[in-house]
Amino acid sequence: LSDRLTSVFSSLRAKGRLSDADIDATCREIRIALLEADVALPVVKAFVAQVKERARGVEVSQALNPAQQVVKIVNEELIQILGGETRRLRYAKNPPSVIMLAGLQGAGKTTLAGKLARWLREQGHVPLLVACDLQRPNAVQQLQVMAERAEVAVYAPEPGNGVGDPIAVARQSLEHATRQQHDIVVIDTAGRLGIDQEMMQQAADIRAAVNPDEVLFVVDAMIGQDAVTTAQAFMDGVGFDGVVLTKLDGDARGGAALSVRHITGKPIMFASTGEKLDDFDVFHPDRMASRILDMGDVLTLIEQAQRTFDEQEAAKVAGKLASGDNFTLEDFLEQMMMVRRMGPIKNLLGMMPGMGQMRDQLNEIDDRHLDRIAAIIRSMTPGERADPKMINGSRRARIAKGSGVTVTEVGNLVIRFFEAQKMMKRVAGGIGLPGMPGGRK
Ligand code: GDP
Ligand code: MG
Repeated sequence: LSDRLTSVFSSLRAKGRLSDADIDATCREIRIALLEADVALPVVKAFVAQVKERARGVEVSQALNPAQQVVKIVNEELIQILGGETRRLRYAKNPPSVIMLAGLQGAGKTTLAGKLARWLREQGHVPLLVACDLQRPNAVQQLQVMAERAEVAVYAPEPGNGVGDPIAVARQSLEHATRQQHDIVVIDTAGRLGIDQEMMQQAADIRAAVNPDEVLFVVDAMIGQDAVTTAQAFMDGVGFDGVVLTKLDGDARGGAALSVRHITGKPIMFASTGEKLDDFDVFHPDRMASRILDMGDVLTLIEQAQRTFDEQEAAKVAGKLASGDNFTLEDFLEQMMMVRRMGPIKNLLGMMPGMGQMRDQLNEIDDRHLDRIAAIIRSMTPGERADPKMINGSRRARIAKGSGVTVTEVGNLVIRFFEAQKMMKRVAGGIGLPGMPGGRK
């Protein structure tokens, strides 16, 4: 068995690292894709540099060609950046929670207010929409229409009393919300077409007056390269905690998402995809990554190649194990090493009948742990490795001393091995890997 396992391992063993030439060639394509998606140039540069850095240390995969491998890394990195620190809305300990929307005029704040209110209502909240855009003549009415559609209440200054003071309205709305038992207040604010000091100041003043639990920066995905300056201006002028990307139903590839995320470090929390109230969703980093890269076909291909490879490896391993009497401590160690190397295949192993418990064990094993186990096994004699039953108290003590661990640790390893061995026997006893070559139905 040991020999056959070894052949599996060597086929998995990587052949060197990705070459600079491969990485550079693919990164040129990636750079173009990102620029075409309207990711801001400095962000593209920083991102590609980061990907190159990571790709350089990566071993050549047996499943994918180098270009595919780099694209896979790019995609993973994109998802990681776009999704890092995804979080839910923060609610106040003492209601009402206050959510304030900020952004340029036309970004979609008022529309979003309606969407958010409905979404919150559907989750059992009782939101109140607050009209603090008193700049445009029909802005209040627009919010009222939204609220009606979302079936939520609005707080707005009485019409005809001249131009209201948005800061006072915001402040008063909190008292109103408390009286009317609204648990969430969503404050719609005014925007300008361009970045404007007066508007920034007003938003900052509203923020200071109501101390929101969340300030959401609403940004149009079509804004493209301008995302950087706009996001930076709002970051400096008002400050915000999260981002909402709107108009994703348009044909923009969504580069703004990466730019804003890169510049501000703030999580993108929601995506708006149309004018209707239910054109709204929490943000999905993976979908956005694939939209920005616009390499859907390539990504699908990569996924398929990877999956096929993993399945073949799993089937091979399953085949070896299924025939396995004679499962030794050495096999045990190699198996764990293999799981460490294979990463995703760990999940496949976990799906095999009888291997579920094994996976739990495997999951416990981090690298340091693994090194200790390796040390223990290497301190055993070949006889002990082949037949651990012979490991008695004095042998345990010797092994512990040789590997620099406690006697208990040696004992635990042996116990764990016996459990694994039992499981191997169960697998060999006829429960193969259903539906896979080499498995049994
Ligand atoms: P505000 O000035 O930030 O309050 O922006 P509005 O909510 O008034 O939206 C400006 C325009 O964009 C309106 O015509 C909206 O119907 C439209 N709009 C808002 N969000 C979306 C969206 O996700 N997709 C599309 N296609 N249009 C949107
Ligand atoms: Mg508006």
